[in-house]
Formats: sequence, structure tokens, C-alpha cells
Amino acid sequence: MTSKNQEVPYKIYLTEDELPKYWLNMRPDLPNKPAPMLHPGTLKPCTPEDLYPVFCEECVAQELNGADSLVEIPEAVRNFYRMYRPSPLVRAYCLEEILDTPAKIYYKFEGSNTSGSHKLNSAIAQVYYAKQQGITALSTETGAGQWGTALAMACAYFGIDLKVFMVKISSQQKPYRKAVMETYGAQVIPSPSDTTAAGRKILEAMPDTGGSLGCAISEAIEVSAGTAHSRYVLGSVMNHVLLHQSVIGLEVEAAMEKYGIKPDVIIGCAGGGSNLGGLIAPFMSKKLKGQADTRFIAVEPASCPSFTRGRFAYDFGDTGQTTPLVKMYTLGSGFIPDTNHAGGLRYHGMNSVLSQLYHDGFMEARSYRQNDVFEAASLFARSEGTLPAPESSHAIKAAIDEALACKESGEEKTILFGLSGTGYFDMAAYMAYNAGTLTDDIPSDEALARGFATLPPVE
Ligand SMILES: *Cc1c(COP(=O)(O)O)cnc(C)c1O
Repeated sequence: MTSKNQEVPYKIYLTEDELPKYWLNMRPDLPNKPAPMLHPGTLKPCTPEDLYPVFCEECVAQELNGADSLVEIPEAVRNFYRMYRPSPLVRAYCLEEILDTPAKIYYKFEGSNTSGSHKLNSAIAQVYYAKQQGITALSTETGAGQWGTALAMACAYFGIDLKVFMVKISSQQKPYRKAVMETYGAQVIPSPSDTTAAGRKILEAMPDTGGSLGCAISEAIEVSAGTAHSRYVLGSVMNHVLLHQSVIGLEVEAAMEKYGIKPDVIIGCAGGGSNLGGLIAPFMSKKLKGQADTRFIAVEPASCPSFTRGRFAYDFGDTGQTTPLVKMYTLGSGFIPDTNHAGGLRYHGMNSVLSQLYHDGFMEARSYRQNDVFEAASLFARSEGTLPAPESSHAIKAAIDEALACKESGEEKTILFGLSGTGYFDMAAYMAYNAGTLTDDIPSDEALARGFATLPPVE
């Protein structure tokens, strides 16, 4: 170990009593508010009543709440959080040493609960609100499987039935994920499936498709709409999900304050934006109020580059084009990433608040090829010991690049990144990387144009 190793503990924990009591909503601090969500039929801003058939009422209220900075965390949710939170904030001394960088690297690890990622933070809140409202069944989609697993855990805890539409390629690559969800009592259906009209339509057009989150969302919405006392739940993209995930950033802020640490750069991987949005929330609010000058970097796969090559436009959230329209960075709801893409983060769009922040220059974005991401993942596993999720490894790769830039310039920057999950269930992807068979499939401009052609003609 280097002489740096006594600066702060390797792991900085909060006590249970220091768990945040409120979630933080960034929206009141945005100089330009995100454009309103639009009803797909009338193209008028969505009212709460428009959304009640799909989401439970409290989630709708949170979704549309642009005014309140602080939202109280219900005691029942906080009690569940106590089972696996606060999560550790780790100083990556070993990685720093291998990189021989003067930078100080920290990561917040969300992968130590059984579902293996940050998704549980929102799953438990959404299931709690559904239960409060007398909902007895939920349906959802899952891509890589983390969301479905988290939701299965939360539904088991509150005694709610769950149907999970799992992107077909993931259900083939990750049979153990399916088994875990089933152990928690959920029903798992590979998507597209012939159990819904949306699924049958997609199968007819593309019989060999490995599926996409957009397809699975259409199927899950259709099922909840056709089932009594049932609602649909979503594990990313939506504002209420980002709100719940702010527990991540609030814990980091409290832990860092104990040691007087101020991050110069904060990095997160971005699929729909929830772990990134949650991690940066308190720090972004400070930046927007002129109290800090933190840099923020969103990292995405080169095979699904919503921020770096997408359009800032109104779009549907699903392939079946049934959801409200959201103004966001998007590749078009018809965009489906290459089936060789193993690294997660496959969603075509991005949360609307993050999209606005990126559009207004408060956040940067970059993309990486999956072989470079897995190389960073391996270096991280070998130095820090933790096997990272491929999604999280996008953030690792960016943190390593930032730390190497510090080595060039001699700057002692403090870098924070979100380690959103564990890679235990991603061994098929790691095996492909280790065998040298992982390909880097970057969409051509023509492929992107086909996605953009599916954008609705709405300004
Ligand atoms: C789902 C997931 C992501 C991507 O979703 P976001 O909403 O962008 O956070 C990233 N990392 C892990 C481990 C995930 O499970």
C-alpha cells in the first residue's frame, strides 16, 4: 500500500441512524425545467388522472412533482433500507496504486444486496406505495435481470403477485437470474412472448429478435391494463425512480462530509439514468445553486449511445408506442441494440431531467466499446477484489481514464463513481470477454437513422 492509505478508511460507513430521512428531487433547482410529459392521444400535458391506470397514485404524484426538493421516505421503506443500507463508500486505494495516479478515487457500492444492484432502492418504495393503495398484482419488464430480481424481493416482502417480462436474450444468457426471481415467487416470461398482443405483433415482424426493453415494457403494460387491481412498475428512466435513487447520493454526501471530502468529478453509467441521477442528485443541486463546481460524466455503451449520438426529442418509452411522450435524449423507440451487446444499458431513451441537464451543459457524456469496458472491469476486479456488473464497468472505465489523465497532469483530483452492481450473474458476458469472442458492434449512421425514423412528429 502507498503512503496514501491512512488518509481515510478503506470503507466509509454511515450508521443506520444516519440513513437519509428524505429523498432529494433535483427538479426545483433546474434553470430550465424539463418539457412536460404528453398524452400520446391528445398531445396535451399528462394529468395525474391520465397516469393513474398505469402507475400507482403516489408514484404519479412524485413523477409530476417539480416543486418539492425533499420528499419524506416512509418509515416502512426506511426500515427495509436498514436491511441492506447504508451501502459502503469505498476509497479505491488498490486501484489508485495500480494506476499510479495522484487522483483519489471513491466508489459507492450498491451491489451487496441479493438482487445485486441499486434497483432495490426504488423497487421497495414502489411496492410499498402499491400495497398502500390496495394493489394486489404488479407487472414489469427486466433487461439484464436486476430490476426484476429487486422487484421480486420487494413483492415477496409485501405479499404482492408479480409478472416479469424478461428480454429474451438476457433470459437465455442469465438462467440463474430467472431462478432467483422464481425463488422469490415471481412469474418470469421471456419477451417478446406470444402471451400478449404487443409481443405477438413484434414476433411477427421480427421472429428472431432477442427482444428489447421497449418490447418488454409494451407487454408488461398490456398485462397490467388487463388485470384487476394491477399496476405496472418501471425500474429506471422515470422521475420517481430517480427520486428514490437519491438515497445513494445523499449517503455519499453524508459520508464525505465526515471527512471533509469534496468530489471534483462524479461518474455514473447511464441506461435510463436512475443510478447516475440518484448518485449526483445532492451534488448537482449544489452546482445548480452555484455552491459547487463539480463535473458530472454520464457513461453509456457505444452500441446504445442515447446521449452521445441521440436526439433531444419527444419519444415513446416503449417499442409498442403506447406510453406517454417524454422529451429526452433518444435513439427512437424502434431502435434495438445489436444482440451481441452483452454489457447492459440497452434502453433507447434517457430520463428527462438528466436529458435537460445534459442539453443545458451541466453534465458531460461519453461512450465506450464493450471490450474496453470489460478490460476495465477485469482490472478493477483484480485490484479492488469486487467483480463489477458490466453496466457499472462503464463508470469504472471512465474513472480509470480520468485518473490516468491526472497522472499526466499531476492533478490530485477527487473522483467518485457509482458501482451500481455486482457481476455475479453476468458470467456469460465475462466468459465471452475472456475467450476473446466479445464483439464491438457500433451502430452505423444508417442504423441510427432507422431508429430516428420511428420518432413521433411532435415538437
Ligand atoms: C439497471 C442497471 C443499470 C442501468 O440503469 P440506470 O437506470 O441507468 O441506473 C446500471 N447498473 C446496474 C447494475 C443495473 O442493474
